[in-house]
Amino acid sequence: MEPPELITPGRRGPRSGTPQRPRIGIVKFASCDGCQLTLLDLEDELLTIADRVDLVEFAEATSRRSAGPFDVLFVEGSISTAEQVQEIARLRAVSHRLVTIGACATAGGIQAIRNWFDPDEVRAAVYPEPTYVESLAQARPVADFVAVDGELRGCPISPGQLREFLVALVTGRRPQLPDEAVCLECKRRGVVCVAVAQGIPCLGPVTRTGCGAICPAYGRGCYGCFGPRESANTTSLARWLSDDRSAADVGRLFAGFTAWSVPFRATIDAYGGPPGQVLPAKETDDA
Ligand code: SF4
Ligand code: SF4
Repeated sequence: MEPPELITPGRRGPRSGTPQRPRIGIVKFASCDGCQLTLLDLEDELLTIADRVDLVEFAEATSRRSAGPFDVLFVEGSISTAEQVQEIARLRAVSHRLVTIGACATAGGIQAIRNWFDPDEVRAAVYPEPTYVESLAQARPVADFVAVDGELRGCPISPGQLREFLVALVTGRRPQLPDEAVCLECKRRGVVCVAVAQGIPCLGPVTRTGCGAICPAYGRGCYGCFGPRESANTTSLARWLSDDRSAADVGRLFAGFTAWSVPFRATIDAYGGPPGQVLPAKETDDA
């Protein structure tokens, strides 16, 4: 991730050479708002941050609205409708830096599990009047549509990683967001491996760190909400997991909040698709 520059080049304050506070926007697409709430949950720190930036668009927190331009735009949620395809293109054009936040924006989120199914069947199963629902055939990550300068993973994002990113933003340095496996956080915390000691299936070896290994610390396996780490060897882990469970159960383990990330998706497909799949996958709709 590049150092997040504070101000769009050329935009300066009223006095020559005086930088303005960076204009920050936070927008959402198909999402539950949980990642935006992580920002609000920073509470006291948020007040300090608000002194250093100009928060011009954040519908969850303020009635102040802006159509841009933005020095940094945080984007929550997957792209799931034709209108959202147009809106993310517009926002990209008015944003100097665009940062996706959360599993929905970075990997498609839990809603991307529908990508394996016939969209008409899904709509009919969920909504009483499916004819009123207009959505793309697939829910997809923001990076499938526009260039993304940085991302914060997780469902929801980690307050610690968000804090690190914001501090880097206001001080003009590169954020330190490690790409290690969750396993390393278990080792640092002294958490006994749930997979080795208890035989609990865990995606920690292929999942990016950032959460503090919350789930193993409470005696359950990681289900991959931070998505795959770089060079994640999902093939090897899936083979190991299949030693004592069915192919369908292995596919089900990867079919969570980041199922549509490329390595997890490939593993799900290799093991027969997500749970309950009875219909062939539809072609991608780029409308
Ligand atoms: S990543 Fe999780 S917490 Fe964030 S918006 Fe999506 S569903 Fe909500
Ligand atoms: S252990 Fe895995 S599933 Fe649990 S919060 Fe961390 S990344 Fe997400």
